[in-house]
Amino acid sequence: MRNLSIYIHIPFCVRKCLYCDFLSGPASVGEVGNYVNLLLREIKEQSVFYGDHRVVSIFFGGGTPSLLPARETGRILEGVRDGFFVAEDAEITIECNPGTVTAQKLRDYITSGINRLSIGLQSTDDEELARIGRIHSYSDFLETYTAAREAGFRNINIDLMAGLPGQGMASYTKTLERVAALSPEHISAYSLILEEGTTLYVNQDAYTFPDEEEDREMYELTGRYLAEAGFHRYEISNYAKEGQECRHNKVYWRRGDYAGFGLGASSMVQNVRWKNPEAHMAYADCVEKMGHGGGGRALGSGSAPCIARPQDKSFAEMLRRTGRCEVQELTAEEQMEEFMFLGLRLTEGVDLKAFLRNFGKAAEDIYGRQIRSFLEQGFLERAGQRLRLTSRGIDVSNAVFAAFLF
Ligand code: SF4
Repeated sequence: MRNLSIYIHIPFCVRKCLYCDFLSGPASVGEVGNYVNLLLREIKEQSVFYGDHRVVSIFFGGGTPSLLPARETGRILEGVRDGFFVAEDAEITIECNPGTVTAQKLRDYITSGINRLSIGLQSTDDEELARIGRIHSYSDFLETYTAAREAGFRNINIDLMAGLPGQGMASYTKTLERVAALSPEHISAYSLILEEGTTLYVNQDAYTFPDEEEDREMYELTGRYLAEAGFHRYEISNYAKEGQECRHNKVYWRRGDYAGFGLGASSMVQNVRWKNPEAHMAYADCVEKMGHGGGGRALGSGSAPCIARPQDKSFAEMLRRTGRCEVQELTAEEQMEEFMFLGLRLTEGVDLKAFLRNFGKAAEDIYGRQIRSFLEQGFLERAGQRLRLTSRGIDVSNAVFAAFLF
């Protein structure tokens, strides 16, 4: 059996944060109910393709999945369990915003099998939070965090952001101190990226942002401070206590199979990538087609239904016919590129033996020039059969990743 991870997109938020370009927005109760029904139909229709897969992680992302009533999240999980073989020890995460859960909702999550909570805090400074349009204060976060521990969550991630408008080293340090003192199992710390079209991007001249130098200092401080507090960095922006790395996200970086359900959700299964439509009508139409012979079941000749499996040529055809977007059957070169630039994000680096096993060629035969040059410049290092970024390499990681593109 092959391992599979499942991503479920919940595109609803109380209101839009000023820096956000994710597929999310406010919705009425009726729209939420209709969306969950569509999602359940999609999960059911798609489950036929994954009979030989074992689900090892499920991730509710968004948007703000915690806005859904717990009975809806429970219904979605039941739908997944009805259609898929879900491993008993599967990691099941839900993203949650402070102030959108009650103690009862958190207990209901645990009852339905959710065993990991990812809380979007970003900063412990209320003025910084207000400046980026977050709906919550630091004390809202503390209430949510305490309630989650009381409900029984033993695996909690906290999301932080550096480079916020008006943020200085002193306030960022305070955020790190406060969060580390809570001792969550996992911390993600990303730098703010000004995405074109967002309110923050449009009005950027009205704010003062930390400069590049400060941004770098914040990044270095994060690694140093969290290491002292018992968190090891296992990916460029992710830190965990021993054995508490996010299993779901590691599947992306290690190029494991994952199926995404919901509006705009991305998937990659056996080297085929695709996305669901981002417009609600197009997504609804796509789910409709899945249920009316546009799926793999219609591919057989004669009366016996024939199910295209992800490894079959006809699988990509089925995806296109049902209105999925950006369907891409990755070439060997594209797979190698991804293997290198995704694998190098992890501090364990890429496994050179696995490269040889997967592609029948040594990484040095394909990327000899780049590897030699980065080793000489001190951006990469070898550790046994692994090749990984050095701390100097992390500083210029985007340039290193780009060099592995054909
Ligand atoms: S809560 Fe998250 S998804 Fe929703 S608007 Fe804010 S950043 Fe975007």
